[in-house]
Amino acid sequence: MPPRHSLPEALLTTLSTSRGRADRLTHTEHLPARPARYSPWPDSIRPEIVAAAADVGVEQPWAHQAEAMNLAKSGQTVVIATGTASGKSLGYLAPVLSDLLEGTEARNGRGATALYLAPTKALAADQRRRAAELAPPRVRAALYDGDTPPEEREWVRQYASYVLTNPDMLHRGILPAHARWSSFLKVLRYVVVDECHSYRGVFGSHVAQVLRRLRRLCARYGSSPTFLLASATTADPAVTARRLTGLPAVAVTEDASPRGPMVFGLWEPPLTENVGEHGAPVRRTATTEAAHLLTDLVERQTRTVVFVRSRRAAELVALQTQDQLGRPLADRVAAYRGGYLADERRALERDLHSGRLLGLASTSALELGVDISGLDAVLMAGYPGTRASLWQQAGRAGREAQGALAILIARDDPLDTYLVHHPEALFSTPVEATVLDPDNPHVLAPHLCAAAAELPLTDADLELFGPSTAPLLPVLERRGLLRRRTDGSWYWTRRERAADAVDLRGSGGSPVQIVEADTGRLLGTVDAAAAHTTVHTGAVHLHQGRTYLVRELDLEDSVALVEPADPPYTTAARDITSISVLDTDTTVHWGEGRLSFGSVEVVNQVVGYLRKRISTGEIMGESKLDLPPRTLRTRAVWWSVTEDQLLDADLPLDRLPGAAHAAEHASIGLLPLFATCDRWDIGGVSVPLHPDTGLPTVFVYDGHPGGAGFAERGFQRAVEWLTATREAIASCECERGCPSCVQSPKCGNGNDPLDKTAAVRLLDVLLAGAPGAAPAAGPAADPEGGTPAGS
Ligand SMILES: [Zn+2]
Ligand SMILES: [Zn+2]
Repeated sequence: MPPRHSLPEALLTTLSTSRGRADRLTHTEHLPARPARYSPWPDSIRPEIVAAAADVGVEQPWAHQAEAMNLAKSGQTVVIATGTASGKSLGYLAPVLSDLLEGTEARNGRGATALYLAPTKALAADQRRRAAELAPPRVRAALYDGDTPPEEREWVRQYASYVLTNPDMLHRGILPAHARWSSFLKVLRYVVVDECHSYRGVFGSHVAQVLRRLRRLCARYGSSPTFLLASATTADPAVTARRLTGLPAVAVTEDASPRGPMVFGLWEPPLTENVGEHGAPVRRTATTEAAHLLTDLVERQTRTVVFVRSRRAAELVALQTQDQLGRPLADRVAAYRGGYLADERRALERDLHSGRLLGLASTSALELGVDISGLDAVLMAGYPGTRASLWQQAGRAGREAQGALAILIARDDPLDTYLVHHPEALFSTPVEATVLDPDNPHVLAPHLCAAAAELPLTDADLELFGPSTAPLLPVLERRGLLRRRTDGSWYWTRRERAADAVDLRGSGGSPVQIVEADTGRLLGTVDAAAAHTTVHTGAVHLHQGRTYLVRELDLEDSVALVEPADPPYTTAARDITSISVLDTDTTVHWGEGRLSFGSVEVVNQVVGYLRKRISTGEIMGESKLDLPPRTLRTRAVWWSVTEDQLLDADLPLDRLPGAAHAAEHASIGLLPLFATCDRWDIGGVSVPLHPDTGLPTVFVYDGHPGGAGFAERGFQRAVEWLTATREAIASCECERGCPSCVQSPKCGNGNDPLDKTAAVRLLDVLLAGAPGAAPAAGPAADPEGGTPAGS
């Protein structure tokens, strides 16, 4: 039994009972301390490694680490998907370093090699230090990235046995030069893919194809490395690992590391006097609420970090809190964010550590690498987007004995609102999965070219690169990129390097540069796909907390010229979108209703924009724009109901447009609960009578050419996803729709029409026919006072 009145709990009670805040705490979760479970070192791990681990304080591995070691040694692709600070790296390092150590006994001193991939250079550098702690110096670990001096590179290729790099470097530097890496690849025993949940969407799809290229070259040199992956806890880690590597994988998910007790509160800010679009009620912002709570906590001498989503918000929370506290306590609160100088940041970290600072408002810049243990409380102003980040941030609080307090403060949007009313979505088995779609032909095509340039492609390679390969090769031939020889193999025909044709982290199309008109200074870039909506002429553009007005969007040169400004308004683009079905992959019948997944063409034209007053959201005016339509071919999930169903449900046809539109918005808001995407990665269209289906239809599509796996995940988990959507709309306390349920900040139609009650009825009609007809989300964990689930 948890102690009845732990310090964190008392703190939470004080916060939630003072100043009329009674209704804001929607749920309290007690996470009990978890004792460690140990296993003996597997026999297959070399005694040198065991001894080195003991030197850094690890006498015995935790059970999940030992399990991973055994699987790795048996040659099984394994993904370790356990919590933050659960020692995932020891799980893969011990078997890797054991084998590398053995390899040093070979005649040439390098009988085995391993490759480590991290999403960032910083993480790779950090991992090199860890490897050095555990391995005797004769296991030569080396970084190989863009910063490695040319004179060192040759040494790494010839002598290093553990090479730490990133997927970009593998794609651009290592694979195209494989001949020079042949002695390394020949004896490649392991490939470690760390933080593999960051390989999601289009980026993840690219990385998946890079790994297939690596596997092909290894096979050519006679090696078949074992893949070891580390991931945050998500749904279906084995499925993700398989998609990423193309190999069947086993997941290790039972976390045996110890954890201190934590009290976790879910918090919903109150409604304000302000009204938003169409008179909708508006909640106090999560950052303002966070500043109020931080004020109270600092007054009680509680060391607290507030995590916010933007640099600007970090400054705002710190300022507001300082204002409310007054001197002298105000001096003990500060902001922390990317963009500060390294010295400033180190000083802030020191002050927080020593207790001179009591409150810090920070962006996720503080998430990784910085030791700020010993905090009493963590506040999160808005859901940080994934459960991995949520636990990463919450995990920063905690002192061994007395435990820690974490509070998630909801922003005024459907996902946050849903989460603070459905704690099971956060505290039970994850439903959010890392999704990617390596079969996307837009992603695959450049990798087939790169692969052909590395070694001519043959029919034997078709299976490795997936089902889209066979139809794509003749297309690449027609484009003059590949040529087929009489022996049936495909060659790269150009002089330029094939690997240069694709940037793994780009999203296609040349990005638009944002340039300060008077100085010519480059401020940043936006994806071509987003440029029309975000940096059109007249748009207000925020960059690192500063405000600019777009003087002109020049599509010819892909440049947006901006000037510093301080307008009292924000802008919102208006657009017209039409969608047509190109190909239906699958359709399932839900009673009379239908749910489909397939390929679509979306034609979108930005036609104007609104100016909205910042303080009130009031519309100050509308301007027209003359931009060409843009065509996107992508993947979508869509659902439709019949007219008979609508008649049976007493849903009049004239309310259908508002119902479908509202359901579409809310479902886009909730999809990130099931797939690690952002609501900005996906789009939607609702049509009262769609020419391709002949029925009222709602589409949700991936915002990237060829798709990224998000819509597909929606199709696979449609019952839960649309049930959660229905639930989010139905349980919102507003009367006619608000940002917490059906209004969307990215609506191209000014959030009009929207019909909240009709949307619930429409979803009920659809879900009534769904398999296992949908009891809405787990009633067991429903907070007191929450809306009863079910339809
Ligand atoms: Zn609402
Ligand atoms: Zn809309």
